[in-house]
Amino acid sequence: MSDIIHLLPDSIANQIAAGEVIQRPASVVKELMENSIDAGATKIQVFVKDAGRTSIQVVDNGKGMSPTDARLSFERHATSKITNAKDLFSLQTMGFRGEALASIASVAQVELKTRQKDDEIGTFIAIDGLLTNQETISCPIGTSFTVNNLFFNIPARRKFLKSNTTELRHIIETFQRIVLTYPDIHFSLTHNNNDIYQLPPTNKRQRITQIFGKKTYHQLLSIEAKTSIVNISGFVGNIDSASKAAPQFFFVNGRYMRHPYFHKAVMEAYTRILKPEQTPSYFIYFDVDPATIDINVHPTKTEIKFQDEREIWQILTVCIKESLGKFNIVPSIDFDTEGMIDFPIEKPINIPNSISPTYDREYNPFNTNSTKKTTTSISNWDAFYKKQNDIKISEPDINQENKELFETKDTLTNQYFQYKDKYIFTAVKSGMMIINQQRAHTQILFEKFLNNQQENLSQQLLFPEKIELDASESTILNEIEPQLKQLGFDISDLGQCTYSICGIPASITNGNNVQQTIKELIACAKEHDTKVLSHLNNELAFSLAKSAAIPNTKSLNQEEITDLIDKLFQCKNHQFTYDGKPIITILDDFELDKKFIS
Ligand code: ADP
Ligand code: MG
Repeated sequence: MSDIIHLLPDSIANQIAAGEVIQRPASVVKELMENSIDAGATKIQVFVKDAGRTSIQVVDNGKGMSPTDARLSFERHATSKITNAKDLFSLQTMGFRGEALASIASVAQVELKTRQKDDEIGTFIAIDGLLTNQETISCPIGTSFTVNNLFFNIPARRKFLKSNTTELRHIIETFQRIVLTYPDIHFSLTHNNNDIYQLPPTNKRQRITQIFGKKTYHQLLSIEAKTSIVNISGFVGNIDSASKAAPQFFFVNGRYMRHPYFHKAVMEAYTRILKPEQTPSYFIYFDVDPATIDINVHPTKTEIKFQDEREIWQILTVCIKESLGKFNIVPSIDFDTEGMIDFPIEKPINIPNSISPTYDREYNPFNTNSTKKTTTSISNWDAFYKKQNDIKISEPDINQENKELFETKDTLTNQYFQYKDKYIFTAVKSGMMIINQQRAHTQILFEKFLNNQQENLSQQLLFPEKIELDASESTILNEIEPQLKQLGFDISDLGQCTYSICGIPASITNGNNVQQTIKELIACAKEHDTKVLSHLNNELAFSLAKSAAIPNTKSLNQEEITDLIDKLFQCKNHQFTYDGKPIITILDDFELDKKFIS
């Protein structure tokens, strides 16, 4: 039998490759714009007709090409950007495959005009399936590609294109992803002779505003983290920016990317700040050593694999939380004047581990040997506050910063006023801050319970309490016993669903309520999935914090109030309780003044 294998002609091989690279008009826009950026252009104009079906033209003022390069640029695997495999690990350019122009030229009619700075005349090339024309012409420095009648030779693909509205939307999305990465380049996008975008060079915040509207400017909170494995910068939206479809962008080394895992990290930072159906806007730029990412994962290169994904997740979450914490204290102060917007985070975060909250491991408030420092009764509030003062918490940086912000931004913080034994009022720069005292204390205890979990803390009861449970409660108690122990309970099983409570966490030493507290904790565990431990820990700590917190009917003196507020601002999250209820609100001057307009 004769041989049947033969090599495909280049034109067909290119068409097949084009199927990967050029899926729709937006892919052409992307490839041409990226080439212009790689060519060092400072001005890039995109002209589109009929959503790119009829023509797409990209004009740049970049370095241009020599006549030979101009011809060669359409060959498959022709690139000036890498020369060997090693270069793949130090990529500084958007392109590197040398496939785009060959692919485009195999599925459309292409014209190229290009001139280099030192040449007097430029090169014109026309390709219509094959090279149809090459001549010298006079043209400006830089390069202009015109791509006409995309998929003219592949009717099936042309038919496959969606409506003009959809294709134009894809083009606009592609355009946005690029212009948001390069704010210092002048871009424009014109559709059927109508300007869609005219974007003079600017900074990132302004570029985002150019695209998403003036309102956005005031909603952006800057984030920054400089570490040995990644530098993160950019913006996340404040609560006002959140919606069902807020703009969300990740970039790495000057390239747009999708990253579902990092997306989760962002969402994690917003836990309990936003309503479940809302998502925040974000524009986050990662800079990493190119050797630590693999951009070959996906042919269209939007999914990127990171070597240090887990570490970056942590850094990302922390730096967003930090920013949210900072800005949320006094939102109206930060957002009512343009000049005051930028409030950079000065302290670089070095390693993720160093950011987690720390506390004085030596001090054990529940240890019977150190009873001097512990509280014994919730009803003894003066003592409670006094003793709490003795507790040395070495504050995490974040919280220290929050506190500083609070103090420096708000010069009048020392005057507190308790209203109806429930709310604490204090004047801040932008208006009147109101704190819900019960929620504040719940949050303080909640974070304390969680932080102390590693310690074996128990305040022994003089008279152990007996508790009888039903069979199902008893099963649950057996399951959560280790968690309760971490929280400071000392429980022994007497058999037949009867238990003896020998020790309890000091902060809830309200003797008569031990049984009730245990029952509440069992109910809480029943309600939640006991298998998800970390979640359960939170729930139990929260339940406990709620039952131990000062009530909204407790009169506090200045010292107690000051202490409460100090501790609140040492919390990782002082804006919302674990169940998402606001702890602080600010009645701003504007609202106040409004009430006095007759
Ligand atoms: P890649 O970008 O992966 O190198 P392309 O097919 O997109 O592959 O481009 C091939 C080559 O053509 C590039 O490496 C570059 O040298 C040249 N080129 C393409 N577009 C431009 C441009 N706008 N200005 C200057 N050179 C360009
Ligand atoms: Mg390219």
